[in-house]
Amino acid sequence: MTDARYDGALSALEDIFGDRVKRGPTGIGEPAALAIVSPTSAGEVERLAEVAGRFFVPLVGLGAGTARETDAREESILVRFDLMSGMRLPDSDEPWVEAEPGATLLSLENNLETRGLGLAVYPTSAPRATVGGWLAMDGIGVGSYEYGWLSENVLSADMVLPGGERRMVGEEDVRSVLEQGAGLTVSARLRTRRAGGDVPFGAAFGAPEDLAGAVADLFGTGVPLWHLAFLDPEMTRARSLGEGFLLFGAYPAERAAAVEEVLADAFGARRGRALPAADAHRAWGERFFPVAPSRPTPAAERVLVPLTDLAEVLGGGRDGRRTAAQGTVAQSGEVLLLNLDLCEMA
Ligand SMILES: Cc1cc2nc3c(=O)[nH]c(=O)nc-3n(C[C@H](O)[C@H](O)[C@H](O)COP(=O)(O)OP(=O)(O)OC[C@H]3O[C@@H](n4cnc5c(N)ncnc54)[C@H](O)[C@@H]3O)c2cc1C
Repeated sequence: MTDARYDGALSALEDIFGDRVKRGPTGIGEPAALAIVSPTSAGEVERLAEVAGRFFVPLVGLGAGTARETDAREESILVRFDLMSGMRLPDSDEPWVEAEPGATLLSLENNLETRGLGLAVYPTSAPRATVGGWLAMDGIGVGSYEYGWLSENVLSADMVLPGGERRMVGEEDVRSVLEQGAGLTVSARLRTRRAGGDVPFGAAFGAPEDLAGAVADLFGTGVPLWHLAFLDPEMTRARSLGEGFLLFGAYPAERAAAVEEVLADAFGARRGRALPAADAHRAWGERFFPVAPSRPTPAAERVLVPLTDLAEVLGGGRDGRRTAAQGTVAQSGEVLLLNLDLCEMA
């Protein structure tokens, strides 16, 4: 891009956004992007996209950076959504919450909790991860055992396309539109659920094939859990939760009769040791580890594994890497494995 075009774009943006345009060096992207703009409303994002389109400058949304994947390039302008983090609940009992892209998933969850509600799904990076960032990535998270992928729980998404056109994307098109990666999300309607009475459970296993077998057995029974996840021995140790593989999750209290016996059978058949209730609560309480607003977030590699391959993947060599893994099981029979860099957690 020529300097004149770059200057033209930034001057036009400064006329609209004033000191909410920060010219580079931005320090984000390699090489660093041109500038960062902080809009306060969907209307402002439309105007931003219109100006960027006129000068052929690509826009790149910024979330919390937990994915460490950004399309930021030398000639792009970054859009920070910190000033767009509002949420709205329906007046009726309809199960949704509408959120702006800069809202963190945990702030939504905390707000919903005061009304006895919760998000149907959220990532374990929720204390930092934003609505816009998780939507752009899609994913599997807490609650995916019952509710599936995030994109299956987005009831609609309000997008601003390159050039400034506004488009409301319905439930059935969300996944394909997000996969194309075109445009910026300016708000999304996310599925909620009744929450508050969830019962945590957990069990320790010595061998990867026992852990994988218990997961497959539970999945096969169709037991009505809300969440099912596990930690490898490195992660169990890093969380000070004992030794070995740890399987844990949660289910609504009113399902206890349909769940408890199935869990006990699955643990027993695979040489699992059920955790005392206090330890299960602790494992559940630490589901966001190591993500916290007060400390840097380590890099995480996301790997999608079919349930049928789980024992082999967990039992495979570690190639001398110091990573710790956590897995989240989805309704589709897929497992999202997150490999976290232990050195960054030290
Ligand atoms: C410890 C840890 C735990 C994690 N747990 C999970 C998990 O349980 N499940 C899971 O699926 N993933 C998980 N992840 C991966 C990652 O956190 C998630 O994908 C997260 O939701 C990304 O959100 P973010 O706000 O950090 O986005 P960023 O990392 O800032 O951005 C991600 C992408 O979104 C784009 N983007 C941001 N805002 C917008 C917008 N408004 N419009 C359009 N595009 C936008 C960015 O350009 C970038 O391409 C985890 C990562 C870590 C480090």
